[in-house]
Amino acid sequence: TQQIILNSRPEGLPTADNFKLQTTELPELKDGEVLVKNLWMSVDPYMRGRMIDRKSYIAPFEIDSPLEGGAIGEVIESKNSTLPVGTKVSNMLGWRNHFVSGEEGLTVVPETGLDLSHFLGIMGMPGMTAWTGLTRITNLKAGETLFVSAASGAVGSVACQLGKLMGARVIGSVGSDEKAEKLKLLGADEVINYKTCGDLNEALAKAAPEGIDVYFENVGGEHLRATLNNMNDYGRVAVCGMISQYNDTTPTPGPENLFQIIVKKLKLEGFIVFDHWSHYGEFAKEMAQWLASGKIQAEQTIYEGLENAPEAFIGLFEGKNKGKMIVKLTS
Ligand code: NDP
Repeated sequence: TQQIILNSRPEGLPTADNFKLQTTELPELKDGEVLVKNLWMSVDPYMRGRMIDRKSYIAPFEIDSPLEGGAIGEVIESKNSTLPVGTKVSNMLGWRNHFVSGEEGLTVVPETGLDLSHFLGIMGMPGMTAWTGLTRITNLKAGETLFVSAASGAVGSVACQLGKLMGARVIGSVGSDEKAEKLKLLGADEVINYKTCGDLNEALAKAAPEGIDVYFENVGGEHLRATLNNMNDYGRVAVCGMISQYNDTTPTPGPENLFQIIVKKLKLEGFIVFDHWSHYGEFAKEMAQWLASGKIQAEQTIYEGLENAPEAFIGLFEGKNKGKMIVKLTS
């Protein structure tokens, strides 16, 4: 079978040379084990952090070892009666076509009629992140103004749609006019193209004349600075990600206007979605209903073949995706 290993640690934006496609032998199946063929694998911005050799909330990837990440596969050989052939399992052993494993680390994907790939996106970690940020971190209320950055991505596109369902006025920022148009079709009230709008501070003031109550932070840097200036008193910020800084080779200085946090009595709260996973059932039930009734749309950008996974991953930092970036594994 084939897998992708970390060939070297990226400096700045990752390049194809940082990855290597490798052919490897699979071990014999022992009692209790299954052979899984991965069908879909996820590429996510947080993986960039794991390519750096440092202590974080999750261990770094090792050079010459296969990368890991969310994937959905099918059991194709089984020596485990609870996981018969044909069972669909979510796992954290992406970046490879096949693997042998015991049942630990494998979660059976429920039969929902939904496309399996959605369990890596809207029904999985990114969807749960959007829901957690709005319901559990900022407690968004009807009538409030919500601003979402990286608004057309996996997390952002769900946060925008969920914000509308919760009765908020929703403003998003995106990196192209095409994305802006698409996001408006999904219900956003105002969309800013941060690459062409000029001064983001002024663009936000125009899009939110009554100020921003809740900010869903995915980008950091200039986005955070401009938003702090436009927040209302007692505003809340779900600090979810800072993708504009993941490829920095030297630390970016913080915004000079952090004093706004005091003046406006703001609450900024960082969160990691996995700490909230005990609420997954609650989220999944609601999201499945919203999807089935068409109240929320699931967008995806699909690359095909394990060999194209590095390109899909690098594409996250170049804005190549609309909705969830995902790789369909074909062999
Ligand atoms: P996305 O699907 O949003 O993909 C990344 C998008 O970010 C790109 O499409 C691009 O869109 C935008 N982007 C890339 N570089 C920049 C930049 N320099 N400035 C502004 N925008 C940029 O990824 P996810 O939805 O999976 O993740 C979104 C954020 O949420 C990330 O920061 C991620 O780390 C974080 N996250 C945090 C979690 C947690 O538990 N805290 C869990 C999951 C995600 P565009 O064309 O608009 O620029």
